[in-house]
Amino acid sequence: MYHAIKSLLMRYFPGTISRFEFPIRKILAIFYGGNKVFCNVCERNLSHFIYHDTGDYICPACGSLGRHRRLWFVLQDAAKPVNEAFILHFSPSKIIQKKLKALHPNYTTTDYDGKLKVDKAHDITNIDAAYHSFDLIICYHVLEHIIEDSKAISELYRILRVGGMLMVQTPFKEGEIYEDFTIQSSEGRKKYFGQEDHVRIYSIQGLRNRLEDHGFLVEELFFEEKKGNYMGLKLKESILLCRKS
Ligand SMILES: [Zn+2]
Repeated sequence: MYHAIKSLLMRYFPGTISRFEFPIRKILAIFYGGNKVFCNVCERNLSHFIYHDTGDYICPACGSLGRHRRLWFVLQDAAKPVNEAFILHFSPSKIIQKKLKALHPNYTTTDYDGKLKVDKAHDITNIDAAYHSFDLIICYHVLEHIIEDSKAISELYRILRVGGMLMVQTPFKEGEIYEDFTIQSSEGRKKYFGQEDHVRIYSIQGLRNRLEDHGFLVEELFFEEKKGNYMGLKLKESILLCRKS
């Protein structure tokens, strides 16, 4: 029901739903009142999350997915940025962007295809920023869209400060990276890479190797939810924390 109403609204009122997303969600949250699950991003107790057929659990109150809730959790802990930190966030979710913007004066958001309301439209393979500009870069679910990922990783390394951290996540598979640039149709990419605009599927080790080849020191944070899943997180999830020394 939620998805049907949302796609109807997106079709006929695309700008309106985006502009009024948070007020609409405030009303929506009333119907999900309860105490069975908890969203750590909007800090609400709820009866349940909305299940999406990608396996994600969406918070009705703020729109966060499991990976956003995990990111928020990690940002409170392993990657806690200080207030003055210069942060660059690629293609951010709306709610995480709102929260980080309120906390950090030097927080910049960017998205290349113009669909998100952000500060910049950096081409990740040729970033318009000086060497050593950022203390923290968040690059979630971006590299799997980029054919020249080697250029992108080298740019991320260039603009990160020594001692800074890059947080990377993409969809992952077991084994080797799978990429084939002759597959260019939307149907082919969806079939082989899982989404119409993905150009590969990384494996954790494969992406780790590519990041290390460019000089990053990489640590994998691996999470596994055993029971309950009170916060609607992915059952298995990895984040690559990449440091520049
Ligand atoms: Zn929420």
